[in-house]
Amino acid sequence: MSAVVTRFAPSPTGLLHLGNVRTALLNWLYAHKHGGRFLLRFEDTDRGRSEEQFMHAIEEDLNWLGLNWDGEALFQSQHADHHRQALEQLASVGLAYRCFCSESQLTIDRKLATSRGLPPRYSGRCRPLSARESGTRGQDEPFVWRMAVHADEGEVVVADALRNDVHFALADLDDPVIVRSDGSFTFLLPNAVDDALDGITHAMRGDDHLTNSAYQVWLLQKLGYQPPVYLHHGLLLGKDGSKLSKRSGSHSVAELRHAGLLPEALVQSLARLGHPNIADDALDAAALADAFDAHHVSTSAVRWSDDEMWRWHTRLLHQMPAEQLLELVQMHQPTADLTFVQLIQPNLQRVEDVAGFRRLLHGRAPLGLKELAVATEAGAGFYAEALRLWRISGHTEWKAWANAIKSETGRSGRNLFMPLRVALSGAMHGPEMSAVLACLGKDGVDERLVDIQEQIAA
Ligand code: GLU
Repeated sequence: MSAVVTRFAPSPTGLLHLGNVRTALLNWLYAHKHGGRFLLRFEDTDRGRSEEQFMHAIEEDLNWLGLNWDGEALFQSQHADHHRQALEQLASVGLAYRCFCSESQLTIDRKLATSRGLPPRYSGRCRPLSARESGTRGQDEPFVWRMAVHADEGEVVVADALRNDVHFALADLDDPVIVRSDGSFTFLLPNAVDDALDGITHAMRGDDHLTNSAYQVWLLQKLGYQPPVYLHHGLLLGKDGSKLSKRSGSHSVAELRHAGLLPEALVQSLARLGHPNIADDALDAAALADAFDAHHVSTSAVRWSDDEMWRWHTRLLHQMPAEQLLELVQMHQPTADLTFVQLIQPNLQRVEDVAGFRRLLHGRAPLGLKELAVATEAGAGFYAEALRLWRISGHTEWKAWANAIKSETGRSGRNLFMPLRVALSGAMHGPEMSAVLACLGKDGVDERLVDIQEQIAA
């Protein structure tokens, strides 16, 4: 087999969302698994809607995710001459023809077909026009170009590595539009021709493209090109099983990045969707690529789960070297140091949770409302007693101190621990109290117990 070349071919008409980024990732994994190349091609032929800002945004998102592409990004518009030539080649042998039917005519035809119990396909009205008549009419009438698939006989076979060969009887297909009335190409021809010109050997894409693939295989064979092997994966659906949309829980990659998500968490959750047997410890992209087996990628639809993605985020935060986590934490808490990060790392679900532990860094950091309520309930007298015992104990041993407070104040269990935890760390959960004491030291605890009495009084 020749070296594997895959591609991600976004139309730059919007931001990257979960569905298309999953397709990008699958192609990236496939290429890396097989020691091949992964190309990025902007399908920018829909001139009205393609925007440079989206190309930049897509590149930025792919870079952020670590989905690096080989070589320079490619642009479909650079192959415009080849697309024209392909059209001419098809037209010269009657495999593409001008269609002059108006929208209203097409609507009537479709209704008529439906009322007869037939599929609403193009009637083929303009197919028999002679080249000369078609050329003459084309000088002053609007027209589109169609592929003459329906006139052909037999079948087309899409070689799909995930589903084996998929057979389409040509009689069941249509004569799709390949050039719009404004002269711009629809998706079918440029996408297929570019795959051939770019040397794409394998194209993974959603199974909503399966019929497109039938047209494209037909087209490529007529043009004398070898079609790529397609791998049509099941679609990514929303959490409720409906089409992925804002409503059913989709996000743009940019949105997730701004929410502070670790890119690796998105990569992990997307790579494992519909490919459940990847070892749990395949934690970086290279390990994922090793473990990836396209044949395990589900051909059924899979559902997105934000929870699963954030679970990965938390897991990766916990496993990250503390030095690396410190850099992230400092974006929220510039005064954070390594000791602080090591202390709270197992208690973070998100990086921004550090805010809840500010009192570990700053003895006078104000408490949150819930925490203040706990402290107020315990009362200034409780803290005065705790402070007195702290000062006379001369040591910083948690158990002994807690027992002493217990016998002096009569508080025990949660009623004893929680007000102390809140006063010292600022949060109602967190590291072991003995670790908190060790981190704060004698004066640090003292300062917080003085401050909490002032906060209650305020
Ligand atoms: N530009 C097409 C899309 O964004 C590419 C589809 C494909 O061949 O992967 O849907």
